[in-house]
Amino acid sequence: MTKHCCEEMSDLLNEGRIAVVYIASYRKYAMHVNKHKFEKIDYCPWCGTRLPESLQNKYFEELKKLGIYDPVKEAEKIPTEFKDDAWWKSGKYANIL
Ligand SMILES: [Zn+2]
Repeated sequence: MTKHCCEEMSDLLNEGRIAVVYIASYRKYAMHVNKHKFEKIDYCPWCGTRLPESLQNKYFEELKKLGIYDPVKEAEKIPTEFKDDAWWKSGKYANIL
C-alpha cells in the first residue's frame, strides 16, 4: 500500500468519499472536478505537506517509447507495470525521486 503524507490523507483516500484522489500510475494527487476532469494539487489539504511531483508527463513519455500514443484507445497494449505504480517504483527510472 502507498504511504501518503499523513493519516488523514491515507484514511480519506481509502474511504474514497472525498474529491481528492491519488492516481498511483502517475503518482498524482488531484481534485476530482467532474467525470473527466482532475485538477492536480501540490499540497496536502490536511497537513500542508508538499506532495511528490506528478509523473504524468513521464508516464506518457514512457508509453510513447513503447509505441502507445493513446492509452485510452490502446489500453490493451499497456504493460501491467504501467497499470499501477510498479513502473516508477521499479528503480528502472533513475531520474524519478
Ligand atoms: Zn497530509
